[in-house]
Amino acid sequence: MFRVLAKARAALGPRQVGRVQTMASHRLLVPPPEALRRPLSIPDRLLLTPGPSNLAPRVLEAGGMQAIGHMTKEMYQVMDEIKQGIQYAFQTQNPITLAVSGSGNCALEVALFNLLEPGDSFLVGTNGMWGQRALEIGERIGARVHPMIKEPGGHYTLQEVEEGLTRHKPVLLFLTHSESSTGVMQPLDGYGQLCHRHQCLLLVDCVASLGGVPIYMDQQGIDVLYSGSQKVLNCPPGTSLISFSSKAKQKIDARRTKPFSVLMDLKCLANFWGCDNKPREYHHTTPVIGLYSLRESLALLVEQGLESSWQRHREATAYLHGRLQELGLQLFVRDPALRLPTVTAVAVPAGYDWRDIVSYVQDHFNIEISGGLGPSMGKVLRIGLLGCNATRKNVDLVIEALKQALRHCPRNKL
Ligand SMILES: *Cc1c(COP(=O)(O)O)cnc(C)c1O
Repeated sequence: MFRVLAKARAALGPRQVGRVQTMASHRLLVPPPEALRRPLSIPDRLLLTPGPSNLAPRVLEAGGMQAIGHMTKEMYQVMDEIKQGIQYAFQTQNPITLAVSGSGNCALEVALFNLLEPGDSFLVGTNGMWGQRALEIGERIGARVHPMIKEPGGHYTLQEVEEGLTRHKPVLLFLTHSESSTGVMQPLDGYGQLCHRHQCLLLVDCVASLGGVPIYMDQQGIDVLYSGSQKVLNCPPGTSLISFSSKAKQKIDARRTKPFSVLMDLKCLANFWGCDNKPREYHHTTPVIGLYSLRESLALLVEQGLESSWQRHREATAYLHGRLQELGLQLFVRDPALRLPTVTAVAVPAGYDWRDIVSYVQDHFNIEISGGLGPSMGKVLRIGLLGCNATRKNVDLVIEALKQALRHCPRNKL
């Protein structure tokens, strides 16, 4: 029956399909779009933005595998392996460690929707894009939000955090380890312990640093840590990683109200990820293919070892910094100790429009780099050396592209 219909359709051509379906009660108002009759076309580019990065070959292969059910024992096995991979990458023994079905922003919402209740005092390091986002979500939840405002490029000292903790008595502090909008690496030693002395929990975004910069969740006293798949892990966008300490779990268990979001309710997520020793119940259909990819990304990190991955990022990015300075470009973060080993922000050279440079590099060299984001928009160009892209060869490629861009793009436009 189906085959006959398909044949008739092929014989009549697309325009006649509406007539064939006279059994339907309505005519189709929207014809099949011509664009979707053409093959999918994606350029092959070197992705040197702050994300997404190119997929590692093994990850790419995982993405081509057939789907299985999200509630099968084979999938639970994959999920358990992902959990172990996240515990290794985060350096944590927290049982509540899982992958979120959504990008890095989604993990931030899982953290805030579960940790904050309306009226809670929330202290936020707003020195770039990600603190602003945390602030916005906190406000929507109805928390009493206290931003510690800094110019883009700034970071927070222990003294500044202590002042904020004393003044606002927050239940939660948000810091960004890897401020990818400005290229700042926030130091983390001592911040967790300081928060705990003030009965405050510490939430850290390490989306642009995980795997490329040392982080020790348990030893640094971080209560909630999250990261993304499409940066150093060279995995497709669409999943993220998160872990909760026992202190964070206690705060969530003591909630007076239920979190607004069912999809992001940590109790449900923890159950589905086998973190609560209870039988797993349906919550939502996880992106199984994305999880295969994530499993393979974490396997690559395990194979390589955290220390050697950290070192490779440090070396490649130090080489990039030297070569950018040779070109006469100025790094946005002045103090070398505060520069991220994954994402570099360069001041837009005087007289140029950043858009011209980004387009030139893409059109003539097939390399993607970025302009600024949020508060750094218009001020910087950003280059990411993430995961398998963190090589000297890629640095040489992007430097040559920038050199040509500076030669050929119009100056004094602004
Ligand atoms: C990319 C990034 C995010 C956002 O992640 P999405 O996957 O785009 O939602 C958050 N924080 C930092 C530091 C990032 O670099």
